[in-house]
Amino acid sequence: MAQEANPFESLQEQIDDAAAYLDVRDDVIERLKNPERVLETNLSVEMDDGSIELFRAYRSQFNGDRGPYKGGIRYHPGVTRDEVKALSGWMVYKCAVVDIPYGGGKGGIVIDPKNYSEGELERVSRSFAKELRPFIGVDRDIPAPDVNTGQREMNWIKDTYETLENTTAPGVITGKALTNGGSEGRVEATGRSTMLTAREAFKYLDRDIEGATVAVQGYGNAGSVAAKLIEDLGANVVAVSDSSGGIYDPDGLDTRDVKAFKNETGTVSDYEGTEPLTNEELLTLDVDLLVPAALENAIDGDLAKDVQADIIAEAANGPLTPRADDVLTERDVHVFPDILANAGGVTVSYFEWVQNRQRFYWTEERVNDELERVIVNAFDNLVDAYETHDLPNFRTAAYVVAIQRVVNAYESSGNWP
Ligand code: NAD
Repeated sequence: MAQEANPFESLQEQIDDAAAYLDVRDDVIERLKNPERVLETNLSVEMDDGSIELFRAYRSQFNGDRGPYKGGIRYHPGVTRDEVKALSGWMVYKCAVVDIPYGGGKGGIVIDPKNYSEGELERVSRSFAKELRPFIGVDRDIPAPDVNTGQREMNWIKDTYETLENTTAPGVITGKALTNGGSEGRVEATGRSTMLTAREAFKYLDRDIEGATVAVQGYGNAGSVAAKLIEDLGANVVAVSDSSGGIYDPDGLDTRDVKAFKNETGTVSDYEGTEPLTNEELLTLDVDLLVPAALENAIDGDLAKDVQADIIAEAANGPLTPRADDVLTERDVHVFPDILANAGGVTVSYFEWVQNRQRFYWTEERVNDELERVIVNAFDNLVDAYETHDLPNFRTAAYVVAIQRVVNAYESSGNWP
C-alpha cells in the first residue's frame, strides 16, 4: 500500500481545502485541525506463558463541540499516534456530515491480533478498558469497533467498565453483540451506507447502477457487506481483494459465496473460477465503481493516474492521499468521501446508543429505514453545497457542510476558559 502521506497531515489539508470556501476565522479553523487531547499508554499484559508484554495504546479525543467524543478502537501493528489523531478528526466531520450529535474520537492498540490467543486478547482489551475508564462514559466518549475489533472486544470493554463503575452502562460503547445491548443492523451498517452512497451517486450522475461493474478492495466487514448490497442493486462485482491478494471474474462474483469461502479459508484468494490479481491491478481495473474498503493511503498520486473507475465510494477511512484526490479531481473521477460513504457505522452506533439510553430496542427494518433517511439526507446536503459553492469535488463539499456545523456549535457555545 502506498505510504506517501501522513494521515494526520492529510486530514489537516482536507480541512484547509474546505475552509478556503467558508467565511470562518483562521484561528477557529486552526482549532478544528488539532485534537483536544490524546491519551498514550503502555498496557502491561500477562501472556499465556506467564511473561508480561507491553502494548502501546492511544485514545484521541479530537473535538467535542457537537456532543460526546465517538469513534472506534483499532487493533493493528501499524497503529501510530498520528493515525489515531487523524481517524479521530475524521470522526468529528463524519458525525457532522450526517448530523448526529457527536464529536470525534478514536483509539488504537499496536498489536497484530493474529499472533495472540483469545485469552491474551481479552486481557489486552480489559487492560485498555481500565486505562480508558476515566476518559469514556455514556455522555463523555463512546468507543466502537474498527479494524480487527468487533462485538467480542466491545463486550469485554463494556464489562470491564461496568464492573469498575459498579453500574450498568450499555451506552458506554457501541457495536456490541445483540445479546449484550447491541443494535439490529449494526454489523451491516457501514457497508450499507457505502451502498446507499453509491446508489445516490449513480442516480445523481445519471448513470445506471444496474449492470455497472464494481471492484472492492478489502473484504472485511465494510467491504464484503458493501459488495453484497451493491450486487443486490443489480451491479456486477467483478473483483475483490484482501491482504493476501485479489480475485477477478469478468462475469461477476457471487459475493455471498466469496464471503463464505473467506470465512472458511481466511482469504478470498484461490476462489474457484477466478483469475488472481494484485491489489494494484484491482485498484486500476476498468470498472464503473471502485470501493476501497481496506486501510488508509491505498491510492497515492501516482496510482491515481492509472485509476480507470469513473466513480469511487470510500468505505475505508482515508484511502486516498491528498495528491490522489488532486489527480482524480483533475481527471473528473467522482469521489464520494469516507465521511459520508462509511458513516453508516457511526450512525447505527448512534441508534444503538439511543436504544441503550431508552432501554427500548428497534427492529432491523426500522434501523435500516432510519439509516437510509440519514444517508440520503446527508448526500443531498453535500450535493447542495457542491452546486451552491461550485466546489471542485464532493470531499470538499462534505467538509464545507461538516466544518460549518462544528463552527456553528462552537461559536454558539463560546470559548471557555
Ligand atoms: P476488517 O478488519 O473487517 O477488514 C479489513 C479488510 O481489509 C480485510 O479483508 C483485510 O484483509 C483487508 N486488507 C488489509 N490490508 C489490505 C491490503 N493491503 N490490500 C487489500 N486488502 C487489505 O475492517 P473493516 O471494519 O472492514 O474496516 C475497513 C475500513 O473501513 C477501515 O478503513 C475502517 O476504518 C473503515 N470503517 C469501518 C467501519 C466499521 O463499522 N467496521 C466503520 C467506518 C469505517
